[in-house]
Amino acid sequence: MLKKNGVACKEEYMEKLPSDIRKERGPFAMIECFQRIPCDPCFYSCPIKAIKPMSDINDIPRVDFDKCNGCASCVVKCPGLAIFVVDLSKPSGKAILKMAYELLPVPAVGDEVIALSREGKELCKAKVVEVRDGKINDKTYLLGIELDREYIYEARAVRVVDSDGK
Ligand code: SF4
Ligand code: SF4
Repeated sequence: MLKKNGVACKEEYMEKLPSDIRKERGPFAMIECFQRIPCDPCFYSCPIKAIKPMSDINDIPRVDFDKCNGCASCVVKCPGLAIFVVDLSKPSGKAILKMAYELLPVPAVGDEVIALSREGKELCKAKVVEVRDGKINDKTYLLGIELDREYIYEARAVRVVDSDGK
């Protein structure tokens, strides 16, 4: 639970999801921003205004899932690294998760990584399927990974696997 240990529990993060029908239709932003804070770059970063207008800079951002196309522009603009894009629409049965990445080394497309939970626990192997260069965005990269669907709401970071496979 967020207030107890700083980690969002299932009940808390499930509130950030669209309907089941919308989940399967295509990628969408999952904004794991839970507390009122004076912050709004996510709102201004969305090119199609799919984050609902805030009446006050402290408002918690809310996604208009009818508009959001999962472009991930907002992901790298969030200073709290709180935004993820979830894509459950792949026919392969796998899911795609996009997240901000600010560590070194930066993995490359095709690399195998280990997906980590919110608590930093190892969950599963994942494959890097997209890397958007961070040089144009204050060194924050966008990483897309392919992983088993069952981990899509649990995986929130990755660990790079070194050349020895460790
Ligand atoms: S993923 Fe793209 S369309 Fe959706 S809220 Fe973020 S910036 Fe807007
Ligand atoms: S930019 Fe990130 S931390 Fe700031 S309001 Fe948006 S989601 Fe929350």
